[in-house]
Amino acid sequence: MKTLNIIPLPYAYEELEPVISRKIMELHHDKHYVAYVNGANAALEKPEKNREVMRDFSFNYNGAKLHELFFANLIKASENNMPTGNILEAINSNFVSFDNFKKEFSQAAVSVEGSGWAVLWKDEENNLMIGQLEKHNLLGMNGMKPILVLDVWEHAYYLDYLNDRKTFVDNFWKIINWNDVEKRYL
Ligand code: FE
Repeated sequence: MKTLNIIPLPYAYEELEPVISRKIMELHHDKHYVAYVNGANAALEKPEKNREVMRDFSFNYNGAKLHELFFANLIKASENNMPTGNILEAINSNFVSFDNFKKEFSQAAVSVEGSGWAVLWKDEENNLMIGQLEKHNLLGMNGMKPILVLDVWEHAYYLDYLNDRKTFVDNFWKIINWNDVEKRYL
């Protein structure tokens, strides 16, 4: 298998302020994400028969790929940030309304137990579903593709929000790059 490359952030570290500080983005990208890429690549070099190596690889590989997606899903903050076009239509038809989707996705994010993610999945027929991942890889859905993810590990918000995960989740809606999400949906 090919080793993973470190993908640079598609914007400056301070671009997401005040929703996410430069300090968090530096640590999140350069330390946490890079550690998952390195961890996945290190596991690849070990004999794959070992069950512990496979666990280690799954954790780190999924961690690396989720962070790639998370960073790509974000953009400079704007008030009234909303999806439009095809992705808005899809959200309305799967979740009744955007407000309802926002409420359900936020609840999923706030209620992740311990470290994990809220995920918007699409299935092979482009139906949408909200889910959670524990750590990076538990509760995953085979055949479903994540198109929008929210990292709710403490390292994603603690320096800015302390233990107030809910406010971080509320502010997340200002920095979603809906063009990126739509591109992954289509
Ligand atoms: Fe993270």
